[in-house]
Amino acid sequence: MKLTDIKGIGPKKQAKLNEMGIYDIGGYIEYLQRYYEDRSNLVYIENSVDGEKQYFELEIANAAKTYFFKKNMSITRVVAKDDTSSINLVWYNDRFSPQSLKIGTKYKFFGKIDKSKKQISNPLFSKLDDDYIGGIYPIYSVIKGLSRKEFIQFKDTILDNTKIRSDYLPEKILEQENLVDINDMFKILHRPDSYLDLYKAKLSYVTRQLVVEHLANKLFNNIDNSYIKHKAISLTPYTESLDFELTQSQQQVLSEISYDMYSDKKMNRIVIGDVGSGKTIVAILSAIIAIKNGYQVAFMAPTELLSIQHHNNFKSYLNKFDIRSELLIGSTSTKDKRSIYRDLQNNDIDILFGTHALFQEKLEFNNLGLVITDEQQRFGVYQRKLLSEKGSSPDILLLSATPIPRTLALTMYQDLDLSIIDTLPSNRKPIESFLVSENMERRFLKFAVKQIQEGRQVYVVCPRVSDDEDSDVNSVENIYKRYKKFFEGRIRIDYIHGQLDVESKTRKQQLFANGDIDMLIATSIIEVGIDVKNANLMIIYNANYFGLSQLHQLRGRIGRGNYQSYCIFVASDGKIEDEKLKFIETNNNGFEIARKDLELRGAGDRFGVFQSGFTSDNMYEIYDEDLYSRVNRIVMNLFEDKSYESNIELKKQIENKMLEYKKIILN
Ligand code: ADP
Ligand code: MG
Repeated sequence: MKLTDIKGIGPKKQAKLNEMGIYDIGGYIEYLQRYYEDRSNLVYIENSVDGEKQYFELEIANAAKTYFFKKNMSITRVVAKDDTSSINLVWYNDRFSPQSLKIGTKYKFFGKIDKSKKQISNPLFSKLDDDYIGGIYPIYSVIKGLSRKEFIQFKDTILDNTKIRSDYLPEKILEQENLVDINDMFKILHRPDSYLDLYKAKLSYVTRQLVVEHLANKLFNNIDNSYIKHKAISLTPYTESLDFELTQSQQQVLSEISYDMYSDKKMNRIVIGDVGSGKTIVAILSAIIAIKNGYQVAFMAPTELLSIQHHNNFKSYLNKFDIRSELLIGSTSTKDKRSIYRDLQNNDIDILFGTHALFQEKLEFNNLGLVITDEQQRFGVYQRKLLSEKGSSPDILLLSATPIPRTLALTMYQDLDLSIIDTLPSNRKPIESFLVSENMERRFLKFAVKQIQEGRQVYVVCPRVSDDEDSDVNSVENIYKRYKKFFEGRIRIDYIHGQLDVESKTRKQQLFANGDIDMLIATSIIEVGIDVKNANLMIIYNANYFGLSQLHQLRGRIGRGNYQSYCIFVASDGKIEDEKLKFIETNNNGFEIARKDLELRGAGDRFGVFQSGFTSDNMYEIYDEDLYSRVNRIVMNLFEDKSYESNIELKKQIENKMLEYKKIILN
């Protein structure tokens, strides 16, 4: 079955789906929700909770009336009731959708109730027999030209009419490990009936993903046993010219790395350390070992912003030691690219900073000895594969700021050696954190202005780029507009998010780093690695939408200099008691936060906790105490009976996984 066989999908819609990365029926089904919204709890007006989004069934009492004011502004009001009370339904600037509501008929509504105003604003609504409201509802990211409604309609047609695929995990394993069959799994993920089912399906999904990944790693490791052996060099001149001393932890990790590099052992190591623990300099010093032994180094970061920053920070330091560095990113001019390609081949560049674009076809190193990957541990093994296809097989050093406990790390990264930086540089002042609700906005903005007047800079983080028809979380665009108005030019505000072109992103990042922007409104794009010491305040809107570890990463952008820093977690309405938020407010240690994250998601009252954390957009943010040992058991099982050769579906999965990473690395 092809996409265009689905009723309603013609060439135009197909092109839109392609843009979203969906090319066939299987791809459609694998396109999962960004998060789930709980629309399951039917309440009466009288006993609903003020300020919360809830699901009502209401009868229309009178017809829609529209009032116009200012230019193009309108309010449309409908009165509706249930057995306990009546209420105003209010739509702002949307006078058409409520027109379809018929007097005397009952509908389902979903929206936030304001009890003092006796109204529900901009509610979603549907007929009683429609399941758009009334359950756990997946929210998908779609693009312009394809509405969410259409997306769901097509998806439903597919789910109702096709058996998606045969399972690559044998029935015996499904049974032993209590996993859901692949077809049921996707059905549940797209149309969950209960949290318990959803939890099981998510767990099955993550388990499957990890199994395929681990198998791919294992197979690859089996064929690669070359290594590079370096002569020892003294790092003293290099560390002496830093304006700080390495911490004990940094020195320890550095000695573990040099052990790998000096022995006849392939380095395949991951350095795990909390945000701000100083991983970058450790990597740079490792690079110096390779370079002084005559090898070249590639230093990759997941974003262009981060690559630019790394290059800027270390260019002159390296230069002092006669080490030539270059930056290669997508926006590098063709002319510059060409000369970089040439110089790399001639061994005239010692260390190249860049994103994964580094690995495009044309790039050839003369003598690549070490690949460093910042903040992207998952791709390590695939990079090595790509590189070995190019005929070289360098050492691999991965840096990860996800501070997971050692025991977990050992099972997660079975194919890697592990180094942990577990102390922060001693000059750090602990960040002061506050948990507040949105109605404190004026107060925290005043505080922001005060910091800015003292010469500091501020980050404001929102969960998404633009407003969303189905949700009322704050967006970068909206906050930017509102703040612009509120501050009336008194401070220099700008915004940044992933959808901007590279040039704007780079320019804005540079302006902020130079202190030419006072306040930067951003999505979580700034989560990784950005280092601006003068920024000392971060405001995170709808903080409950982020995972615990992600909040910690975000907060790690401040508290990097000598100034006292502050983080303000702004909870969505009704979420001020959120356990996650209360924990992060009082805790600053990444390892403890990671442990709590596990505990919250894994143990104990898994069910309740899962509900409060279910808005997360990351499937992997589901943890189960047994997850990794289960994955290991399954992998061993499949590996021993050589299923990766005989099981065609599994083989395909593994190959796809390789391709998927290859694609990410190559663009
Ligand atoms: P991360 O581990 O999050 O990548 P970075 O490597 O970006 O952290 O380091 C954070 C900041 O701390 C940088 O500005 C770096 O210069 C500084 N730093 C690194 N090591 C030390 C140290 N031993 N003492 C003081 N400052 C340090
Ligand atoms: Mg870093």
